[in-house]
Amino acid sequence: MLRKRVSERLGGQLIDLQSPEPARKKAILRAHDPEYIRRLFEGKLTDKEIRRVGLPWSPQIVKRTLYSVGATIAACRAALLEGVAVNLGGGTHHAFYDRGQGFCWLNDSVIAARAMQAEGLAENILIVDCDVHQGDGTAAITKDDPSIFTFSIHGKNNFPYHKETSNLDLELENGADNRSYLDALVNSLTACLMSFNADLVIYLAGADPYRKDRYGRLSLTKAGLAQRDRIVLGRLNENRLPVVITMAGGYAPDIQDIVDIHFQTIETALECYDENRNQTDGRKRKG
Ligand SMILES: [Zn+2]
Repeated sequence: MLRKRVSERLGGQLIDLQSPEPARKKAILRAHDPEYIRRLFEGKLTDKEIRRVGLPWSPQIVKRTLYSVGATIAACRAALLEGVAVNLGGGTHHAFYDRGQGFCWLNDSVIAARAMQAEGLAENILIVDCDVHQGDGTAAITKDDPSIFTFSIHGKNNFPYHKETSNLDLELENGADNRSYLDALVNSLTACLMSFNADLVIYLAGADPYRKDRYGRLSLTKAGLAQRDRIVLGRLNENRLPVVITMAGGYAPDIQDIVDIHFQTIETALECYDENRNQTDGRKRKG
């Protein structure tokens, strides 16, 4: 539904929609345990491991996951050339080194960040995780990696109940509204940009801080979420930082609400990075 809306309203002139290559095993192994990956690919995970992810295992879901990770990698390459790019998927931040969890099999952010490093395209990557749930897998995998800075703003009393330690964590009480969320975000973002010299940013623009989300527990409105995007993307653009946007979570009962929230993130990205268009010889942004 999101792809259809992007294609109908922004396709052609504004956004170039592309299909990614699936992620390769070599890239995946920069973030994951070889034994876990072998069993994931071969369908040899235990029932318990599959239950922890909460999705049924199938060859199709492995394929889907590889394309989703491949899209984040492709979006990184595009953003480094053109300023901003979006994966209409991805943001699977609950995947750990040797296990999946919370609808996430593979950690696309870490795989893509390390792919850019391996290709010599970026050295220091900042991950700005605005999904309502903590980016626990991302924090755990990169715990001893000073080249990846993780920032997570999330619900204190929400899944995952055991939190990992990101480089910067910001916890919000249940019911936090636009004002308290956005004030906290502005301050934390400043702290991230002052303490870490990034050359690429991956932004998880989760739709689940929305007030009607089934699993969110916060009270942000759609306008508040648009303001969140403006703060993040505006600040990154001021700092001339290339950014990759991934979807992450969204569980509002009306799927149109989720599509609206992701779509407004893409519109906001176009607004914020519009002034860069002339500097890219009018090349289209990748979708
Ligand atoms: Zn989430």
